[in-house]
Amino acid sequence: MFDLIIKSANLPDGRKGVDIAVSGGKIAAIEANIAGEARETIDATNRLVSTSFVDPHFHMDATLSLGLPRMNTSGTLLEGIALWGELRPLLTKEALVERALAYCDLAVSQGLLHIRTHVDTSDPRLVTAEAMLEVKERVAPYIDLQLVAFPQDGYYRAADGVKSLERALDMGVDIVGGIPHFERTMQDGAASVEALCRIAADRGLPVDMHCDETDDPMSRHIETLSAQTVRFGLQGRVAGSHLTSMHSMDNYYVSKLIPLMAEAEINVIPNPLINIMLQGRHDTYPKRRGMTRVRELMAAGLNVSFGHDCVMDPWYSMGSGDMLEVGHMAIHVAQMSGVEDKKKIFDALTVNSAKTMGLENYGLSVGCNADLVMLQAEDVLEALRLKPTRLAVIRRGKVIARTEPKISHLQLDGRPETIDMGRNPTNRG
Ligand SMILES: [Zn+2]
Repeated sequence: MFDLIIKSANLPDGRKGVDIAVSGGKIAAIEANIAGEARETIDATNRLVSTSFVDPHFHMDATLSLGLPRMNTSGTLLEGIALWGELRPLLTKEALVERALAYCDLAVSQGLLHIRTHVDTSDPRLVTAEAMLEVKERVAPYIDLQLVAFPQDGYYRAADGVKSLERALDMGVDIVGGIPHFERTMQDGAASVEALCRIAADRGLPVDMHCDETDDPMSRHIETLSAQTVRFGLQGRVAGSHLTSMHSMDNYYVSKLIPLMAEAEINVIPNPLINIMLQGRHDTYPKRRGMTRVRELMAAGLNVSFGHDCVMDPWYSMGSGDMLEVGHMAIHVAQMSGVEDKKKIFDALTVNSAKTMGLENYGLSVGCNADLVMLQAEDVLEALRLKPTRLAVIRRGKVIARTEPKISHLQLDGRPETIDMGRNPTNRG
């Protein structure tokens, strides 16, 4: 007796109409026409069933704070940081926990069950770290939450930056962050990268830095981060988030840089929604896009995974917890519109991000955790086009969210009565 069987599922790898059986929270079988009983059966009717979505870069201490204490009028990254600085002294643990839990509800409804969030350690009260540690524990049954100690105002630039970051790690925050391009000088930035990699090596922790989130082609902290990664033997455990300066760098320099990043096995985390919104703000025309070189980095074998970064906070007034919105934007900004390109983009929202986060037992094979999402779309290309309804979200074999399919009822003489948005209108097979 299985706990759950999903019948007639289409899978991200292109297999169609297969069954998925779940036992004890794990995938027990994936094949056509699985025989045997189950406590619960879901007929997927050839809809896409994927592993749950993964967001490797988020700010859960800032989410849903839009308008507090005021709006970002210029829309720039720097006003966002200043605005967050105004809000920070007013933050309470209770309000932080409440907003984060509300975001996690939204994430679950979108099939997003694994999130790495940066936690600002600039305020020595560390109310942010306290709150996010509590949230991590409370959402553990349904969301894997990783916490990065993030010195938003600069590791060296903030008065107590060095001490506060160490204290956050002592409290149980489990990844070392950084923001080298926001330190006072390039030299301070490079020194912060070295110091933070040393802390990670000493404590046996991964690293995930906001790195070169600027249009300045001379912001080259990713070079230092790659070199220090190799020096401290941290290969594969280091992520470079944003890397937007690579968009503006000289091509010859990039031809040296990318192999250096590959040697260090850097996990690359672009944030398409936020990059296209915040970068190029000082340009008139032509206006840069600002997102890092996704196609080139993927071609060089680097692990690229996309982050959502912000939802309704001082930096970004939009967002919905939907990783397909992130992928949709990535396709446009990276101009990766080919069929194989889009499949790679879907991987960057799922398996690549799971690798970045080091998630164990993530995947669509026997023995993996049954963390799944069924979408109102037939395949990954359609999922990226439609950002469709998440019909069912499954955590360890249990349905934890359901949404009714989106069906339009037409009132037109001689035309069909209904349109199912998830059925591909160009499907001629
Ligand atoms: Zn960020």
